[in-house]
Amino acid sequence: MVGLDTSFEGAFRVMGNPEGRWEVQVTTSTGFGYPVRVGRGILDQLGPLLQELSPAQAYALIADGRVFDLYGDRISDLCSGLSQPLTVHTFPPGEASKNRREWAELTDALLSEGLGRDGCVIALGGGVAGDLAGFVAATYMRGISLVQLPTSLVAMVDASVGGKTGVDAPLGKNLVGAFHPPRFVLADTELSATLPRRERSQGLAEAVKHGAILDAEYFEWIDAHIESLLDGDPDDTATLVARSVQLKARVVSEDEREGGLRQILNFGHTLGHALEAESDFLIPHGSAVALGMVLEARLGEQFGVTLPGVADRLAGTLTKLELPTSLPDSTDPEDLMRFVSRDKKARRGVSRYVLLSGLGEVDPGDRWSRELDSSKVREFLIEQSSKSV
Ligand code: NAD
Repeated sequence: MVGLDTSFEGAFRVMGNPEGRWEVQVTTSTGFGYPVRVGRGILDQLGPLLQELSPAQAYALIADGRVFDLYGDRISDLCSGLSQPLTVHTFPPGEASKNRREWAELTDALLSEGLGRDGCVIALGGGVAGDLAGFVAATYMRGISLVQLPTSLVAMVDASVGGKTGVDAPLGKNLVGAFHPPRFVLADTELSATLPRRERSQGLAEAVKHGAILDAEYFEWIDAHIESLLDGDPDDTATLVARSVQLKARVVSEDEREGGLRQILNFGHTLGHALEAESDFLIPHGSAVALGMVLEARLGEQFGVTLPGVADRLAGTLTKLELPTSLPDSTDPEDLMRFVSRDKKARRGVSRYVLLSGLGEVDPGDRWSRELDSSKVREFLIEQSSKSV
C-alpha cells in the first residue's frame, strides 16, 4: 500500500516495546503535528504536557459523566500543579448526548464562565466525549486548542486520532462536524480496565478493521489474542492500541481531509452508519461497524472485487469477539437504503463503498472507494434480511 510501512516487521517495531509505552507522531495538512502517546500509566504525563504542548489561560475539562466519576479525581490531582484554572463540565454518557443541544449547552457554559480564545478544552471519555468536546473546541470562538484523553477502546484505537469531531443529526450520524486536530493525545490503556467487556468488543471491532484494511498479520494477531483482549489483559491491550494508532496515524498523516487514502478507514461504515441511524442509535458504533464490515465484504465478493472467503473469515473473528455479523430481524432494508443514500461519503448523490480486495488490502477503486448499483445493494440487503437473526 502506498507509502505505508504496514509490514509485520513494522508491527514488531511497535509491538516489541519492552516499556509498554509508545509515541506515534501524526502530521496534519496545516503542517503542525501532534503526538499520540500510548501505554500503561501514560496519563501521569498530563500536567507537564499541557504546559509544554497546549499552554492556555484556562482549561475546560469536558467529560462523560460516568468516566468523570471514575477518573475525575485523578485528573484533578494531575492538574493541581497548573497555575491556570481548570473547570469541569460533564454530560450524560452515551451516543444520545452527541447532538447539537448538548454542544450548545456546553458552549454556553464555557461562554458564561468567560473562557477566552486562549483557553483549551480537554476531552475525557470515549468516542462520544472526543467527538462532542472536540466539536465544542472546533467551533468555540472559531476554534480553540484541544487535548484528547480517550478512555474507551474505541476512542483509544480510533476516535481520538485523526482530528474528526462532530455531532449526530436526526437524519444521520456525524452529519455536523469539523476537522480539529488535538495538541496531543494521551491513551492510557490502564483506564480501559474499568470498561465493561461489551465495550471492549466495540473497540476491538475498529481494531479488526485496521487489520482487515492494512495488515493481515495484525488481523491474525488479534484473532489469536481474543480472549486476553476481551478480558482486558493490560499488555495485550497496550500492544493493540499502539499498533492500531500507528496504522491510523499513517493513513491520516497522508490524507487528513479524506480526499483519498483516508477513505479506507470507512470500510464497513457506509452500511455501519446507516445501521446505527436506522436503529435510532440502539446498535452501538462498534457493533454496527462489525456488521457493516461483514456485509460490505459479502457485497465485495458478490461484485467480484473481494476474494471469496474473506467475509466468512471476518465473520468468524467478529463472532468470537461477541459482535453481530448478521442483520437483526428488526432491520427494514428499505429504511436502511434511505440512510445509506444520505451518507456523507456519497458523491453526486451516489453512495460509495470501500471494498477489500483481500484480507489486509483495500481495492484501489476510484480514490479507494466505489459506487455500487443501488438496486443491487437493495436486493442484497433484502436477501440478507431474510437470513436475519
Ligand atoms: P462512548 O463514548 O459512548 O463510550 C462507551 C461507553 O463506555 C459509555 O457508556 C462510557 O461512559 C463508557 N466508558 C468510556 N470509558 C470508560 C472507562 N474507562 N471505564 C468505564 N466506562 C467507560 O462510545 P465509544 O464506543 O467510545 O465511541 C463511539 C463514538 O465514537 C461514536 O459516536 C462514533 O461515531 C465515534 N467515533 C469517532 C471517530 C472519529 O474519528 N472521530 C472514530 C470512531 C468512532
